[in-house]
Formats: sequence, structure tokens, C-alpha cells
Amino acid sequence: MRLTRLFLLTTGLLLALVSSLLLRSIWTDGRQVAAAELGLAAMQRAYLAMKVAEKASAERGPTIPVLNDTEPAAPAKRARLQEFRRATDAAFDEALTALADSSDAASLSTLGQLQKAQRELARARVEVDRVAALPHAQRSAPGQRLTRAPIDLMFAVIDTVLAGVTTQSAAAETVYPELSMPLVGARYAAELREYAGRLGSQFTTPLATGQPPGREEQREIPLLTGRIEQLRKLIALQARAGHTPAPLLAAIADMEAQYFAVSLPFIEQIAERGIAGRPYGLDSAEFVARYVPPMKSIVALRDALFAAARDSATQRVAEARQRMAINAALGLAVLCIELTVFLLIRHRVLLPLLRSTQAMNAVMRGEVVQPAANPATLLRTDEIGDMARAVSALQEATQHGRALEAEREQLIAQLRQASDTDFLTGLLNRRAFTEQAARLIAQARRHGWPVALIVFDMDHFKRINDEHGHPAGDAVLLATAEIARGQVRQGELLARHGGEEFILLAVGCRPDEARQLAERLRQALAAHPVPLPDGAPLRVTASFGLAWVEARQPVELDELYRNADRALYHAKSTGRNRICSHDELRSPTPD
Ligand code: GH3
Ligand code: MG
Ligand code: MG
Repeated sequence: MRLTRLFLLTTGLLLALVSSLLLRSIWTDGRQVAAAELGLAAMQRAYLAMKVAEKASAERGPTIPVLNDTEPAAPAKRARLQEFRRATDAAFDEALTALADSSDAASLSTLGQLQKAQRELARARVEVDRVAALPHAQRSAPGQRLTRAPIDLMFAVIDTVLAGVTTQSAAAETVYPELSMPLVGARYAAELREYAGRLGSQFTTPLATGQPPGREEQREIPLLTGRIEQLRKLIALQARAGHTPAPLLAAIADMEAQYFAVSLPFIEQIAERGIAGRPYGLDSAEFVARYVPPMKSIVALRDALFAAARDSATQRVAEARQRMAINAALGLAVLCIELTVFLLIRHRVLLPLLRSTQAMNAVMRGEVVQPAANPATLLRTDEIGDMARAVSALQEATQHGRALEAEREQLIAQLRQASDTDFLTGLLNRRAFTEQAARLIAQARRHGWPVALIVFDMDHFKRINDEHGHPAGDAVLLATAEIARGQVRQGELLARHGGEEFILLAVGCRPDEARQLAERLRQALAAHPVPLPDGAPLRVTASFGLAWVEARQPVELDELYRNADRALYHAKSTGRNRICSHDELRSPTPD
């Protein structure tokens, strides 16, 4: 696997791993925050339900005087009852709205319980109003329990509400098992407040009528006192179970001092008197004034317990949020560092490496390439910088070497051309002609083509030199080469064979065509006088020797030349400015 790919793969895997760990941690923390917030909300709803119990319980206070009211009815008592009823209704509204807003099972169940309690309360109120409207004599007739029945209905309301409180605070305890002490304690305190209220209610009618407590009251009083003692112990037990904050201890002590040390002995004393048939020594209002205010210490304890639970839960939410923020920040930091390292390695190591490798490969392939590294990389002081400089130097050295080689090849080509060319006429020289002719002859032999060779020599050239000077002779040679070049076609090889002798090899040329070519050359020379350096035109001629082989005949350059040379000699000797072919030599000469 290539290094870049491997690097990409490992980095990708690492990134995926870190990201998933980060997401998992945020998800877990998020769930904790959500659960903590849910628990806190459940706790607040439980508190609202406790407030309903408290208000519905308190409503009994002004209900009893209305039930026991004499004629004419006292409007103040009824007004007070209405005020308490409104307070209960407000508490119901608040709790029901909060419960309707949340959709968890516990809230739905509590909502149902509170709605049931609301219905029960409505029925109880109807009953209260009905009994209160009866004549006093009928209500207070001995043995009649008319005023007791509506109060019992109101007790039932509180039982239903407290069941709702239990459901809701149990939901909060599930989220915060460690907070069960203050929560359970608060619930006990709410119950305690209710039973203390009920205990007091047992005495309002006997006090109002001056009668001893009835049978039901006498049965209820010890039951309620027992339940109150039980709750007192349970609260004390809860307080001892764990670390109890000082404000809670103070609230418990306050309740002990106010309710248990004063109110409870007081009520026991009243009960004793009533049961013994002695006068109570105080009326209903005085009783309420002494008994009810210390019960506030129970409510205060309930609120203190609930506040402790709420503060603790709020702290948990804050802690969970903080943990989530720290985890997210740490995870993001790791992710950023990893990405930075990835980019750094890629830009500072892998890409320069890749570029250098490409440059070296290109050097090896002999291609012209871009610089091996960018200027910044070349200035680097690390290992990559060293490598880039080395590759760059190698590249320069190779390019320099290549330029030298090209120069050398150019020189060689020039030399070769010079060595092949006749310096005066620019035609091929004898050596180059022999070389190239051998190749053409071999080709003709392979294909069985006909071949013709024409050798021509300037007539009386020595005389030209002698009469007009050597430069004039050179001019004649140059002009002759030019004229001959004009007659030669592609594939025909023309050369200066030496001195004032020229040679022309025509491959694929039949004998008659060869003769026509020689004739064209002869006539062209004869027809074009050469302008001498002094300006005077000079008529020059040449003699031609012609030799050939027919198609598919064996052919040798040496033999062709010998034949052509003999024919040329014959042309010279028979008058010059003529063409003689080797076949004519075989037939007997006319002269
Ligand atoms: P023929 O018609 O029988 O061929 O007579 P000719 O005078 O042409 O032949 P000969 O061989 O007697 O003379 C050839 C002369 O060509 C001799 C030599 O000085 C001259 N020559 C050879 N090469 C050159 C050259 O490059 N330039 C000049 N100007 N003359 C040359
Ligand atoms: Mg000559
Ligand atoms: Mg000659």
C-alpha cells in the first residue's frame, strides 16, 4: 500500500474513533443532564402536589366553623371559607398545569390522581354547603353526625392528593436515589401536617357544642396521635440516616419544640378533659388560636426538606452540564490537534516527498519537469529541506548534462554533414555517395528493381582553369552542380565524384528513362552558359557514360561504375558532349 494511502487510512480511522468517542461521551453526558433536569422537574411537580395537600387541608379550618355556625349565619365565616377555597383552587390549577405540561408516566398518573381529588373536593364542598344550609338545630342535634360527614369527605380528598404526591416524588427518587432522604422526609412532613390538622379537627365540633368527643372522635384521636408519633420517628430516622444539613436539623428541632413539645401535650390534655366529661376551659376559636400556629413548623420542615432536595438536584444538573461541557471541549481539542497534525504531516512531509519522487521519476524518464520543490521547501532546515535540495541539485545536474549531450549531438550531426558534403558544390562527396548508393543498390536488389548509373565529366576543364583561372573553374563546377540538381528527382542520388566528374544513381529507372535523364542533363548544361566571375558567359559541356541493369538482374555498384566509366571514356574519345552507354561498347564501334 502506498504511504499516502496508508497515512490517509490511519488518520481517517483515528478521526472516526476520536469522533465516535467524543459523540458517545457527549451523548452520555447529555442523557445525564436530561435525566437530571427531568428529576428536578418531577421534584418540583411533587412540591406543587404537596402544596395542594397543604391548601386542601387548610381549607378544613374555615369549613368547620361554617358547618357549626348558628343562626343568623355569620357572613365573615363564609367569606373566610371562600378565601381558603380560592387558595386551594389556585394550588390545584398550578399543579395541574405543571403536570399537564409533562408527558411521563408518573406525571400522567399524578395528574389523574389530582383530577380525582379535585372532583372529590367539589363533591365535599357541595356537601358542606348543603349541610351548612340546614337549620342549626337539625345539624347539632345530639347523635346527629351531619357536620362530620363533609369533613370526612375532605379527609378523603387529602388521601387522594397524598397518593399523587407519593407517585410524583417516587419518580424523582428514581432519578436521584441518593436524594430519597429529603424527598421522603418532605413527604412525611406533608403527611404529618395533614394528620396534625385532622387531630385538631376532631375537637372543633366538641368544643363548639361543649359536648365530649363522640364515638368516632374517640376512636380517631388515638389513631391519629399514633400515626403522628410514627411519622415523627420516621422523619427522625431519615434525618439520622445520612449527613443532614444544619438548616434541616434546625427545622426538625423547631418542629419538636413547637408542635411536639407544646401542641401535642396541649391536645392530649383537652382530650382527657373531654373524655372525662370535664369542661374544656376554652372555646373553639381559642383552641384554633393555640393549636394551629405551631403546625407551621411542620410546613417549614417540609419546605426545608424539599429545598434541600431541590438544591442538591440543581447542583447535580449543574455538575452534569459542566462535565458535558468539559468532555466536549476536551474531545474537540483532541480532534483539532489530530487534524492539525494530519495537515502538518501532509503538507510538511508527504506532499514534498511526493513532489520530489515525481521529480526524480521525471528526471529518470528524461522529461523536462517543474522544480522539485517550492522555494519555501528549499529554504527549510529540516530533513525534508535537505532532500528537496538534493533532488533539486540532481535535477539541475541532469538538465545541464542533457543540454551538453544535445549540443554534442548537434556538433556530431554538423560534422557528419560536413564529412558527407562536398565543400564547393554542396553535393554529396564520393565517400557519402558510396555509402548511400550501397544501401540503395541493396534495396533494389531485394525488390528486383532496375538500376541505372550515369557518370559525367566536364569537357576540357583544364583549359577553363588555364584560360580563365581556377576561380572560374570553381564557378563552373558550382553552376554545373546546380543545373544537375535541378534535373534530379526524389530517390536519385547525385554526387561530385572527384575533380570535374559527377555521378548519378537512379534506382527503379529503366534504361530508356536513364538515357532520357542523361540527355536532359547534357542538354541543360549545354544550354546554360555559366557566368564567369568577370561577367562573361562561358559555354560548357560534359561527356556522359551510362550503365544499367534491367529489372530482376543481379546488380553490383563496382561493376556498374566500371561499365559507366568505360562508356564515359568512349564518349570522350568519340568527340565529347555526348552520351555513351555500356551496351554500345559491346557492339562493334562504327569508326
Ligand atoms: P577531358 O575533356 O579529356 O576531360 O580534359 P580535361 O582537361 O577536362 O581533363 P584533365 O583530366 O586533363 O584535367 C582536369 C583538370 O581539372 C585538372 C585539374 O586541375 C582540374 N581540377 C580538378 N579539380 C578542380 C577544382 O576543384 N577546381 C578547379 N578550378 N579545377 C579543378
Ligand atoms: Mg574533363
Ligand atoms: Mg576528369
